[in-house]
Amino acid sequence: MFEHIQAAPADPILGLNDAYKKDPNPNKINLGVGVYKDELGHTPILKAVKQAEERLLLQEKSKNYLSIEGRPNYRSAVQTLLFGKDHQIISKQLAQTAHTPGGTGALRVAAEFIKKHLPEATIWVSNPTWANHQSVFQSVGLEVGSYSYYNADSKTLDFEAMLASLSQVPEGDVVLFHGCCHNPTGIDPTPEQWYQLAKLCSKQGFLALFDFAYQGFGQSLNDDAQGLRTFLDHVPEMLIASSFSKNFGLYNERVGALTIVCETSDQAESAFTQIKRCIRTNYSNPPSHGSAVVAEILNDAELYALWESELDTMRTRIHEMRSLFVNTLRAKGVNQDFSFISQQQGMFSFSGLTPDQVAQLRNEFGIYIVGSGRINVAGMTHDNMAPLCEAIASVIK
Ligand code: PLP
Repeated sequence: MFEHIQAAPADPILGLNDAYKKDPNPNKINLGVGVYKDELGHTPILKAVKQAEERLLLQEKSKNYLSIEGRPNYRSAVQTLLFGKDHQIISKQLAQTAHTPGGTGALRVAAEFIKKHLPEATIWVSNPTWANHQSVFQSVGLEVGSYSYYNADSKTLDFEAMLASLSQVPEGDVVLFHGCCHNPTGIDPTPEQWYQLAKLCSKQGFLALFDFAYQGFGQSLNDDAQGLRTFLDHVPEMLIASSFSKNFGLYNERVGALTIVCETSDQAESAFTQIKRCIRTNYSNPPSHGSAVVAEILNDAELYALWESELDTMRTRIHEMRSLFVNTLRAKGVNQDFSFISQQQGMFSFSGLTPDQVAQLRNEFGIYIVGSGRINVAGMTHDNMAPLCEAIASVIK
């Protein structure tokens, strides 16, 4: 029965990580998978997380199932983080949130929900986008289209082209936006551009699905939510896929959320029953630990402040690495202009390195970068910066 089955191609990002692990080169550098690393190259457990876990260990009394949608104090805390605590979406109960296994789980549940209830809809993703988007949506049979986003020559957002392609999206389709820290380019719309996109969404009548995997990694928790909050000033409906893998460092706890915003609380309740159905027939109910940690932190002033300061530290370190990278490349004699990297935000940058240069960096120097040239800036440290930039200098010349 199984002998005809062909091996699937390796995942472009996780496959790269496996190759990195196997590489015996002691000086290897991993700028592939999107995981934060500190100055020592470690992916730390945040102090706020450890403290929350200590409390939970003492408090936990049962391993009974959670409900399909997850724990109430997690669901409400996620909404406060998304909308701000005084937002009318919360006071009027226009949104419903389910805890999902990571941001990917949220996208997958959203995809099933869209396929089932908006069966004619095509989903539009930016060109380029996170490598897994297309596969997640296609896995439920959705048509996936792409809209213009990036100008590879100027290394900027091609906003005119983006507006032009989104103006072609018909009413009833779905458009995926990256809430902040666009993966892979590191380039986000400005507040004015978000405003124009929101107005276009309202005019065209498409549904926005926000993928929000990096809240707090761009400017701040609030500033990073401005894009989706601006949309909500103009449109009554939205889907939001949150991930807490990066901003809480809870990668392997699989903690994320799917939020649906509707025009009325009755509609939100009714649509949410269908989201719960998708979950019930998929993984039944969510894993407990990650959401217990996040809820403990978000609902406790002291832990929240500690978490926010640790998030600031991660964000500041990435910004520093961006500037250091640009300056060190220059110091190593690279004439090509990389200054755009210090203006981008989040973990990623599109470096402009060609597939040949990426292959050479891997084969000759043990430096792992995604084939598209996307680099994870969070993998850079003061220690690996000089060898990294020397290697890049030698493949560019
Ligand atoms: N969306 C984007 C844009 C991402 O970059 C990622 C992770 O890399 C995800 C979603 C998935 O996050 P999670 O690991 O929580 O499933």
